[in-house]
Amino acid sequence: MARVSNFTAGPAALPLSVLEEAQRELLDYEGTGMSIMENSHRSKTFDLVHNEALDLAREILGIPSSYDVLFLQGGASQQFALIPMNFLRPGKSADYIISGHWSERALEEAEIVGKARIAGTSKDAGFMHVPTKLDLDPDAAYVHMTSNNTIYGTEFFAEPDVGKVPLVSDMSSDFMSRRIDVSKYGMIYAGAQKNLGPSGVALGIIRKDLVEQGRTDIPVIFRYGTIAKANSMFNTPPTFAIYLVRGVLRWLKAEGGLDAIEKINLAKAHNLYGAIDAAHDYYRCPVDKSSRSHMNVVWRLPNEKLDDKFASDATKAGLVGLKGHRSVGGLRASIYNAISEADVQKLVDFMAEFRTSNPV
Ligand code: PMP
Repeated sequence: MARVSNFTAGPAALPLSVLEEAQRELLDYEGTGMSIMENSHRSKTFDLVHNEALDLAREILGIPSSYDVLFLQGGASQQFALIPMNFLRPGKSADYIISGHWSERALEEAEIVGKARIAGTSKDAGFMHVPTKLDLDPDAAYVHMTSNNTIYGTEFFAEPDVGKVPLVSDMSSDFMSRRIDVSKYGMIYAGAQKNLGPSGVALGIIRKDLVEQGRTDIPVIFRYGTIAKANSMFNTPPTFAIYLVRGVLRWLKAEGGLDAIEKINLAKAHNLYGAIDAAHDYYRCPVDKSSRSHMNVVWRLPNEKLDDKFASDATKAGLVGLKGHRSVGGLRASIYNAISEADVQKLVDFMAEFRTSNPV
């Protein structure tokens, strides 16, 4: 079996053991004579999967009981709209920290719903670091940030101090990659397809008092309160995606949880950035050192032709998904939880060989 090292930004690599378990169980899930996909979402069988996945998320991340944990649909992008719809009341304004493409998309949706302002941006710096200077409105309905910028390869390593205003973070691309203090947030959300499972489901962690105060002048299905009250089963949830999320969370727990995975993620990032920096006459990471993402590592070669050759030669060598996002070019390696230290070492070895055989 030829499995590649998959550095794609998302949908991304999943742990092999989780895929193998799904394969074994596909035709007959736990003696039910059918796959988990064919079981009713209201069955006892699925209920156990669903609740175990939610409980595991709570346990691994240390989510306090004052928060609801929800499976949401429509991906992270749908939350860009639902967050202002639920939490932005007429007469109030929301603050947005702009650190790249996805935070701009989130702001655009908020501007359709109500009043939103930019509380800080690093656009002038080409988003090569996360915004450091913030001008926050103490009366804001919430402050929205993107903890990891998948396209630009930057990451916040500490939460901005937002006082009493609820902090809402899109953690799609660094969720469950390291320990965080959930109590600092009003809401955290993440599409599953990077560190948590396949696409089709997103996880939302929302302070219960915010859920309860959410607006009720919006359609019932768009209210976080509706989803919370129904334990994420108001309508048919994406059952197979949730089953795989449970598999990934079981795997993460068995690996030693967030402390263990954070250590591995740090070692992977140090190895890769170290290789780029050590060959700085050939490889160049444009991101400020203080903001370099541990999940999405971006770099460039001396010219675009070599960028393209690197990506295509790497693919032939079984290292796939390394082309940078079409809006920024260059190379990008997404080294999420399921990417092993050995995968990163293969990439580092390939970089050394490529540099020797393609001199400028
Ligand atoms: N936020 C971030 C940080 C992302 O990386 C992405 C997707 N790559 C999104 C939001 C959009 O996610 P979705 O496709 O699940 O809506």
